[in-house]
Amino acid sequence: MPDPAPAETATERPAVPELLATAVAALGGQERPGQVQMAEAVARAMSTGEHLLVQAGTGTGKSLGYLVPALLHDDRVVVATATLALQHQLVERDIPALVEAVTPSLGRPPSYAVLKGRSNYACLHRVREGVPDDQGTLVDVPEGSMGSEVLKLRAWAEEQAERGGPGDKDSAPKHTDRVWRQVSVNHRECLGAARCRFAEECFAERAKHKAAESQLVVTNHSLLAIDAIEGVPMIPEYDVVVIDEAHELSARVTQAATDELSVPDVERAARRSQRHVDSSEADDLADAADRLRDAIEDQRPGRLDSLPTDLGDALALVRDAARALISAFPKESGGGEPDPARTQARGMVQELFVTTERMAENRDGDVLWVAERDRSRGGNQLCVAPLQVWGPLRDKLLTSKTVVFTSATLMIGGDFNGVATSIGLKPAERVDHSIEGGLDELDQPAAVASAEPLPWRGIDVGSPFDYAKQGILYVARHLPQPGRDGLQPAHVDEIVDLVDAAGGRTLGLFSSRRAAEAAAGAVRERLPHLTILAQGEAQLPELARLFVEDPHACLFGTLSLWQGLDVPGDTCRLVLIDRIPFPRPDDPLMSARQKAADRAGGNGFMQVAATHAALLLAQGAGRLIRTTEDKGVVAVLDPRLVTARYGGYLLASLPPMWRTTEREVVLKALGRLGG
Ligand code: SF4
Repeated sequence: MPDPAPAETATERPAVPELLATAVAALGGQERPGQVQMAEAVARAMSTGEHLLVQAGTGTGKSLGYLVPALLHDDRVVVATATLALQHQLVERDIPALVEAVTPSLGRPPSYAVLKGRSNYACLHRVREGVPDDQGTLVDVPEGSMGSEVLKLRAWAEEQAERGGPGDKDSAPKHTDRVWRQVSVNHRECLGAARCRFAEECFAERAKHKAAESQLVVTNHSLLAIDAIEGVPMIPEYDVVVIDEAHELSARVTQAATDELSVPDVERAARRSQRHVDSSEADDLADAADRLRDAIEDQRPGRLDSLPTDLGDALALVRDAARALISAFPKESGGGEPDPARTQARGMVQELFVTTERMAENRDGDVLWVAERDRSRGGNQLCVAPLQVWGPLRDKLLTSKTVVFTSATLMIGGDFNGVATSIGLKPAERVDHSIEGGLDELDQPAAVASAEPLPWRGIDVGSPFDYAKQGILYVARHLPQPGRDGLQPAHVDEIVDLVDAAGGRTLGLFSSRRAAEAAAGAVRERLPHLTILAQGEAQLPELARLFVEDPHACLFGTLSLWQGLDVPGDTCRLVLIDRIPFPRPDDPLMSARQKAADRAGGNGFMQVAATHAALLLAQGAGRLIRTTEDKGVVAVLDPRLVTARYGGYLLASLPPMWRTTEREVVLKALGRLGG
């Protein structure tokens, strides 16, 4: 736990609204009722131990809404974000400004730290001693341009070590992931602080120590999941966690618990072990890789409901060979520093054993599928992911910590129940009001291990925007239902007319790369005076910069634009959405989750596909209004939003803009705004 504040006895601790007002005044902002309501609710949750879901619209200032009560809490508070962009904003902007503003009131500067996974920091052992090659020998710098990039990173890491810098990936000179791997290690490859001679200077170790002494620790969803659910201790002890961008939590936790296996992975582990093991175990693993290749290549991409005999036998063979190989590694002689090449090789085999054992067992709680990769990357690969994450979240996180979930989008279909259920809370456990209708009646996790009730509250602190006056939601009811891939001519015509009326200034959010490219091509051809930027033509930050710089530009793209873009002002007057973003029917994990919900007596389509689509739609529509001055149109070119039975559920998840299906009304409104 952090050190108790020495000056606290002398300075009376302010109340939450008071400290929030001090912070807001010092930062030059205005009091926002939603922010005050949020801060008080968060403080209450921290003192009662009840979980809290807070929906706080864009512009509420939600980071101060949880940071202020966190600084007044007696013990350490962890804040977890989904994206690097928000983590950056907190650590580089919001927290330093807040700390400066509240230090006089608190009588001490509150301490804070940022904590990332080990591979996000440069490893000084690897920087100074080199990296093991495929034969398991330590090598120096690879040749060619990659070599010069590695040298640049090494020089930067040494300079960071000398001046006590963070040594993390985000503050490093520009580099590719491949080059970064030459100067970093994952937690299995690390020699361990007790045995590494550079541990005292080690960036990851220093970050861990700083976090252990801090009141506030900022981390990400994945690290939180690995620490809490997988039980790998990464984060110093805490009792309260605030999960920002909470609408992303279950996807990030799923991602952190997904394992992949390809034949080149097995071959590499065998090759790297050969030099360290005298007997035949490494060769046996290489032979098992051949069997696995035959078995995987025979499979068609897609979900495996049951494990085919050939594949099951091949997995068992790799697992057994990996187990035997682990035992064949010579024991480390105590005391001295271990051989890093051997540590890495053994770590790879260990990882392989865990993955193949999980896949060979094909447990009830897992979904297994074959994914297609191009030949140059070794052909098909096997993937395994948890069927659901609400069980582990409930059992491993919610039963032992107080959790505050917050996001601009937590109410799906008009209530919290869909999101609450997906993260392990039961609608019936909500204590602040009775439950009516909605998804709560459809299904509740029947097999949640923790029977202890976990009380929670949900509040929507609203938004400072007047959506009904600032935005129009247009549904193109007259269009045909969109096809799965690509666009039909009627959709293309509609896009061209809308973009033309808006004078560019359009963010196009498409459900497939093919549709985005087709739209970009058509608009370029028919409206040649406009600049059309398409995802994939440059990196996203570069595209966003160009989009903002040219007020008449359009930016067309797919999923990462749905959530990651913040462009206030004149740049974006029209958000185009080509179709309701349901998961693809051949998505193995989503279809397995849908079937499981059906089997449990619920409505799989509503709980999985519609919830997924509603969250994305809300995020996409949320790109339009970013300030109280913004005005514009969200145009959905999928008539099902108003004609299908589930349309009402999706509409209830969207910001309350003025709604119309009248094309002419919208073209005129865009004409007035576009000028
Ligand atoms: S402790 Fe681990 S990460 Fe740190 S320098 Fe040593 S090997 Fe690298």
